[in-house]
Amino acid sequence: MNALTIKGLTKTYGNGFEALKGIDLDVAEGDFFALLGPNGAGKSTTIGIISSLVNKTAGSVEVFGHSLDTARGLAKLSIGVVPQEFNFNQFEKVFDIVVTQAGYYGIPAAKAKQTAERYLRSLGLWDKRDNQARELSGGMKRRLMIARALVHDPQLLILDEPTAGVDIELRRSMWSFLTELNRAGKTIILTTHYLEEAEALCRRIAIIDHGRIVVNTDMKSLLSRL
Ligand code: ADP
Ligand code: ADP
Repeated sequence: MNALTIKGLTKTYGNGFEALKGIDLDVAEGDFFALLGPNGAGKSTTIGIISSLVNKTAGSVEVFGHSLDTARGLAKLSIGVVPQEFNFNQFEKVFDIVVTQAGYYGIPAAKAKQTAERYLRSLGLWDKRDNQARELSGGMKRRLMIARALVHDPQLLILDEPTAGVDIELRRSMWSFLTELNRAGKTIILTTHYLEEAEALCRRIAIIDHGRIVVNTDMKSLLSRL
């Protein structure tokens, strides 16, 4: 089954700007997929639509066969999203931020705490569980966003420029965390404007430019063409 199927997706913002001009994308279950493109290409718009934060203009989006038009609730349950901006309450404690998120998905408290602990540990944040989010470094906040996105155990994890502004050492540790997660069966889609990041992580790649997909291939074929 496809984790994600996008057909003819367009987005025209209120000011008339056409950010997406008819996008088709297929991401297979278990894939590690990169959406690569320069700033302004339409990556965040695409992710915003998949995660129901942005309304599409036309086209269709299905997540594990659930249409965003007719089964949005089921689609949302299958996705964990890590947006670019830190959007948690800076005054809330790290552990509570992750557990509270689980509550939005109706996950029982005991189970939520268990999963929160598992991901905070694997992301190196367990020691910080009682700190307020504002006390964390930038790299730690980034990892907190990932733990929170995983707490309902979504089948598909989507990350928008996950290592933007992150130093090389942390970038590598995030890469190995994501690689492990994918090996354990999670489908992952990330956006990036570094080919190097896509190359290090992903098996398939689509390149987006000015709201159009200009390349859609597996990483090996792309690299052999460069
Ligand atoms: P990327 O994530 O690839 O940098 P975005 O999806 O954020 O690209 O943006 C694509 C284009 O849409 C950009 O030119 C951006 O300026 C424009 N855009 C984004 N949000 C809005 C908005 N709310 N209104 C008008 N234009 C927007
Ligand atoms: P900064 O944002 O100031 O760079 P970081 O959050 O990057 O601070 O790093 C804090 C520490 O956590 C670093 O020593 C880093 O190596 C470590 N670290 C980063 N990612 C992980 C991880 N996935 N597992 C364990 N430790 C990690």
